[in-house]
Amino acid sequence: MAPMKTDLLFAPEQLKRLACRILTAAGSSDKEAEIVAAHLIRANLTGHDSHGIGMLPTYLRSIANGLLIPNTPLKLISDTGAILICDGERGYGQRVAREMMDMAIARCRDTGLVLTALRNAHHIGRVGSYGEQAMAAGLISLHFVNVTDHTPVVAVHNGADGRLLTNPVCFAMPGTAKHPNLLLDMATSKIALGKARVAMNAGKEVADDTLLDSHGSPTNDPRVLFSDPPGALKPLGRHKGFGIAFFCELLAGVLSGGGTMQPEHPRHGGVTNNMLTILIDPQRLVNNQWLESEVDAIADYLLASPPATDADDEIMLPGEPERRHAEQRSRDGIPVDHETWRELLAGGTALGIPESELNACQTTP
Ligand code: NAD
Repeated sequence: MAPMKTDLLFAPEQLKRLACRILTAAGSSDKEAEIVAAHLIRANLTGHDSHGIGMLPTYLRSIANGLLIPNTPLKLISDTGAILICDGERGYGQRVAREMMDMAIARCRDTGLVLTALRNAHHIGRVGSYGEQAMAAGLISLHFVNVTDHTPVVAVHNGADGRLLTNPVCFAMPGTAKHPNLLLDMATSKIALGKARVAMNAGKEVADDTLLDSHGSPTNDPRVLFSDPPGALKPLGRHKGFGIAFFCELLAGVLSGGGTMQPEHPRHGGVTNNMLTILIDPQRLVNNQWLESEVDAIADYLLASPPATDADDEIMLPGEPERRHAEQRSRDGIPVDHETWRELLAGGTALGIPESELNACQTTP
């Protein structure tokens, strides 16, 4: 999203320091605060403000309600070689999912293929960050995630009310020198819930055919998602996106042991994520020379397609928008809208951080 004229601008390091300050004031160790803050700022850098520093006020509310427990490490429940089952025990998702990926990456060096199930993590944030962890280790990863503990706000195909949440999927492959970091990372709703929050905070409408109000009628007003009773986001790609979201419930919710959105499970108003991850070492399948030449050939072929007459953008591979955002925002700074800044100030001062100290972070890069 391009910065609005009135947005505040922050250097990434400044914003990370601010996030660390708030996280440690909310009880995290320095090490945990560093991991969570780095994840949030990377989300902002890659253009996903919905999963960036603006999540902190929600996390502070979750801590106050006992739904997020700082300083909770990943708990290994079962290790049967290529299958690892872990419990996040309501710890910061950014920490426990990262720890799970570290363990799975180390195991994949031996087994070539690893399946991990993570249950009961507080919000794991931008799933692409775990794909980036796998790619940095030269591995391919596939992630299926479901969301529980929250009021459902994603409709099923042809349904009028929320029955699911935004159940993301992510596929990552290291790629080549010419086409690095191939990364598909997306919600299975038409837009991520956090993007509706960002639009609401900025006083903007969302695109047509994205939202239903609480009566099941189309609307462009993101406020319907945060009112009572709430409206609903439509699923991505009609029956196809709904089908993928349903399989996230099955793969991440059922197989992790964490549970699904079925109504007998509690909904305390937090965000709990379960994630099923498959890690693959490509070197066990094909030689690297073949892999790189074939990846380059198919990528070049796709990018050379003539643009459609109704194209809304140039042709790109998944992962390219994030790469471009990261380049631009590392250079020009990260925009933060005024409502998000107000919420961060309120959250920080409630923890006893002087407002002057928080405001001191606010220098244009
Ligand atoms: P998005 O729509 O911005 O992007 C989805 C994917 O499409 C990305 O891989 C991107 O690289 C690719 N893409 C975007 N524009 C493209 C173009 N013009 N050409 C080719 N590829 C393009 O993402 P989203 O669905 O809004 O999701 C945002 C973030 O929200 C993701 O990081 C996701 O993991 C996260 N999320 C997390 C949760 C959770 O519970 N933890 C839930 C939902 C979403």
